[in-house]
Amino acid sequence: MHTTALVLFSGGQDSTTCLAHALARYERVETLGFDYGQRHRIELDVRPRVLDAVRARFPAWAPRLGEDHLLTLDVLAQLGGSSLTEDIAFAMQADGLPNTFVPGRNLLFLTLAGALAYRRGLQVVVTGVCETDYSGYPDCRDDTMKAMQLALSLGLDRRLVIETPLMWIDKAATWRLAGSLGGPALVDLIVEETHTCYEGDRTHRHAWGWGCGRCPACGLRAAGWQRYAEAGAAGAAGESSSL
Ligand code: ZN
Repeated sequence: MHTTALVLFSGGQDSTTCLAHALARYERVETLGFDYGQRHRIELDVRPRVLDAVRARFPAWAPRLGEDHLLTLDVLAQLGGSSLTEDIAFAMQADGLPNTFVPGRNLLFLTLAGALAYRRGLQVVVTGVCETDYSGYPDCRDDTMKAMQLALSLGLDRRLVIETPLMWIDKAATWRLAGSLGGPALVDLIVEETHTCYEGDRTHRHAWGWGCGRCPACGLRAAGWQRYAEAGAAGAAGESSSL
């Protein structure tokens, strides 16, 4: 029986939903973010605001939410070549991946999360990777996660579970999951406080939240919201009652 978890928390929709998943399930939850030279600091600015909002608006979860950790990973920007860390335009690469792909990023994140979980005595690492409605990053795939779980458990000589609550659901179902975990208050918090946009835009407010509305991350978030909103509250209620 696992009681403690470390959530990879970027301040976006997916990782905030994962945080709620962990808070609903585990007695002690800590969070981990990375400063890897993102082009936009907005992600790092949003993280503590989301955590404060969760503490303020979900009194049952607040006592479970422990320390937040931020690790610096300059090495990713040193590797270069990604539009996430350099001022180059978004484009598709010849291999079919968007140039937002930072090779090895999630592998490094998970390795460091495993090391921190070891130090902090946390049993489960929760990450919002998804193979259903995603940009095709190979380090988000289920097989990659299972291989990392095995590698870390062996390399640390301690059983470490990598949990991926969003792996097999699309973005509309991610909104529904938030609704079933924390009701409309959590959906509102995610819309208003989280950040997903690759362009770091916090000036345009849409029904689904803040963002440029044009980049691939905004596109996924907006399309998911659209399908979620069309299905209406009936779908969310159905999911809640089935839990
Ligand atoms: Zn955007």
